[in-house]
Amino acid sequence: MKVAENLVAIEEKILQACQKSGRNPEEITIVAVTKYVSAERAQEAVAAGITNLGENRDEGLSHKYSTMKQKAVWHFIGSLQTKKVKNIIDKVEYIHSLDRISLAEEIQKRTDKQVKCFVQVNVSGENSKRGIEPAEALEFIKSLEGFDRLSVAGLMTMAPLTDNESVLRSCFKKLKELQGEIQDARLGHAPCTELSMGMSNDFPIAIEEGATIIRIGTALVGEDS
Ligand SMILES: *Cc1c(COP(=O)(O)O)cnc(C)c1O
Repeated sequence: MKVAENLVAIEEKILQACQKSGRNPEEITIVAVTKYVSAERAQEAVAAGITNLGENRDEGLSHKYSTMKQKAVWHFIGSLQTKKVKNIIDKVEYIHSLDRISLAEEIQKRTDKQVKCFVQVNVSGENSKRGIEPAEALEFIKSLEGFDRLSVAGLMTMAPLTDNESVLRSCFKKLKELQGEIQDARLGHAPCTELSMGMSNDFPIAIEEGATIIRIGTALVGEDS
């Protein structure tokens, strides 16, 4: 399938989820996750109107960043090893996987610009998932105050791999609630206006529960090319 055709189908689902929940579709940004596909396929996504691209490995990001003619806004979405920060930091505008102080220290050390970060929260509590425990998120975010090279744009989570709608919904609801607590703390370095949640199989539910950024790989660009 052409990316443009997949995009039409996804936009239709976004519209439906927004209508169902009384939201404005303009509040939702699609990050096309290109980690499975070639730079050519990523270029096809940009040609179809996508401006935000996401990768989860420094090699994949650097390769596409240097070979693609079109400019894109890059998001780093996967777990990020501290020693890899220097390879990606000047290529990305967003990091979706801030989950420890040592990573914040490295970001602070390696850049002169401002990086918008999402604090990754392990809402589902699965051992296999990374992220800060929900109960510790506010304290963690408070402790980021001294790092003037990064701001907390929002929270990110990955829902369990399941088709059980109520499990997915409660996961997204919890992240939204946590966002409310963090916004109530009125931290200058943590406006926390964004919620990065929802992937190919669960983005309509994530939107109904408040997602502002959805990260779509398979359903948009496919799994290989
Ligand atoms: C791979 C990945 C995605 C996209 O997954 P799909 O199910 O293919 O849409 C989104 N977020 C993260 C963190 C990922 O690693």
